[in-house]
Amino acid sequence: MDDSSDQTGQGDQHEGSWLRRRRGTARRAQRETSAPAGPGPVAEASFSPAYPVKASQATAIWTDSHCHLQDEPDPAATLALARAARVGRVVCVGTDVASSRRAVMLAKELSGRAPAQSTGYAQIPGARDAEVWATVGLHPHDARAGLGSVIEFLDELSAGEGLRRSRVVAIGECGLDYHYDNSPRDVQRDVFAAQVGLANRHNLALVIHTREAWDDTFSILEHEGVPERTIFHCFTGGEAEARRCLRIGGLLSFSGIVTFANAVELRQVVTHCPLDSLLIETDSPFLTPVPHRGHRNSPSNVTVVGNAVGQLKGFEPEVLAAISWMNAEKAFGLGV
Ligand SMILES: [Zn+2]
Repeated sequence: MDDSSDQTGQGDQHEGSWLRRRRGTARRAQRETSAPAGPGPVAEASFSPAYPVKASQATAIWTDSHCHLQDEPDPAATLALARAARVGRVVCVGTDVASSRRAVMLAKELSGRAPAQSTGYAQIPGARDAEVWATVGLHPHDARAGLGSVIEFLDELSAGEGLRRSRVVAIGECGLDYHYDNSPRDVQRDVFAAQVGLANRHNLALVIHTREAWDDTFSILEHEGVPERTIFHCFTGGEAEARRCLRIGGLLSFSGIVTFANAVELRQVVTHCPLDSLLIETDSPFLTPVPHRGHRNSPSNVTVVGNAVGQLKGFEPEVLAAISWMNAEKAFGLGV
């Protein structure tokens, strides 16, 4: 699943320089005045949170920014287990109209449910009710089905209680998959372009799945207008692709692939990714991280992904949890 070995990412003489370019935007100019100048690797110590992480957030809980809770035999039980593992928020991602409907239903049904005493979660300081959010979209594998029913569903929600009250926070997952080519490429491109348009029209985040299709992905985004909040789900590109994503303001969402033995280049990308541009996800029930390979993945394992990312960044897991919590809030517009 890891296709990072396909990506060149080589030839960058100044490892880490793209990080400085990205971090050197006007928005963060003030923070960057002490950034090291000139080429050369950026020391781990030069990473600092884009915002202060307060001591009170040491009890921070985790966000799974991308899972398919609707694929679970018992989503409520899976969520309860995740909460016991200190996962307090999940984004339940649709891949076609049926799974999108189910994502919305679960988000409404399961959000705000009091932690089950039996899970022990209620005893954790700072524990709160679970938040479940939904996305609506059509996966590139299913692009041939056409976007009509997805658009009808969005219209139905908009005309009803509204997208926000329906807990819809993004369009996707959508994009291009030229590895499997389960739908014709021209159809994939049209359906992806239309979904970029939907994200812009409804002011929603965009969740992108892209595989072996980077150039077309970027050209469609540029042509349709990059949504303000664009997330590259299960990022597996190299440093060159990471730079391109960050340059257009995208966020990189890292999955359990970061724990795979062969994901050396991806771990380099994690190391250099600006702290305000990363998310963590499980993509459960797929992509089980090491050391749980061979078992079904679940949102609980976002803690494993977070630990790995935290280790690469040189942060305690709880600090990384807090950072990814805040980034998810920003990426999906949850802080209202
Ligand atoms: Zn997914």
